[in-house]
Amino acid sequence: MKPLVEQVDKVTGALLNTIAYMPTSHLDVLIDASCWKALSDADFMRIAVLLAKKSVEEGGCPIGAVIINNESRKIVGKGHNTLVQESHPYNHGETSAIRDAGRIDFSKTTLFTTLSPCDVCASLLYMRGVSRVVVGDITNASGNELLLRQKGVNVEVLEDEMGISLYAKFRQEKPHLEMEDWRGVAELANMQNVFD
Ligand SMILES: [Zn+2]
Repeated sequence: MKPLVEQVDKVTGALLNTIAYMPTSHLDVLIDASCWKALSDADFMRIAVLLAKKSVEEGGCPIGAVIINNESRKIVGKGHNTLVQESHPYNHGETSAIRDAGRIDFSKTTLFTTLSPCDVCASLLYMRGVSRVVVGDITNASGNELLLRQKGVNVEVLEDEMGISLYAKFRQEKPHLEMEDWRGVAELANMQNVFD
C-alpha cells in the first residue's frame, strides 16, 4: 500500500510532529522513502525538539534526539529522555535514540540532539562511532563538543530557538529534576543546602 505522504512540496510543522510521534519502525506507512531528502538539518532538529516537547508534556525532561542515515536521510532512530516516565536514570535523548536504532552501523549516521551531550552520552556517541553530531542548544548547556571532536566526531551546532526556550523554562520550573537528570539523586541534598 502507498504511504500517506508520497511527495513533500512544503515541510509543515504538522508533518514533523507526526513523524516525531510515529514509531520509527512504522514511518514507511507515513512517508515515502524518496521524501526524506526534502527535510533539512533544521527540520530533523525540529523533530528532536518536538520529541523534547512530548517528554515535558509527559512530566519528563525536555531533551530529544533523532538519528538519520547520511545517504538516504531516512530516520533510523529517535527518542527522548525518560528519567521520569520510565524511572530510568540514564535514558537520555541520545541513549533513547540509539536504543531505538538498534544494532546498526552508526558510522553511517548523524545524530541530532536538542541539548549538548552529557559525559555519558558523549562517550556513547564516540564509542558507537557516530560520524556526525548536530547540537541544537549550547546556550543552556555545553561542554563536550571539544571532546567529541578530539575523538574524531564531526560536531556541528545548529541551535533551535523553540528547543532553547523549552529547556530554559524547564530549568526555571523544575530545577531539582534538571539536577537529578545531570548529576543524580545524591546531588539533590547539596542543592537543598544552597536553596536553604
Ligand atoms: Zn546524556
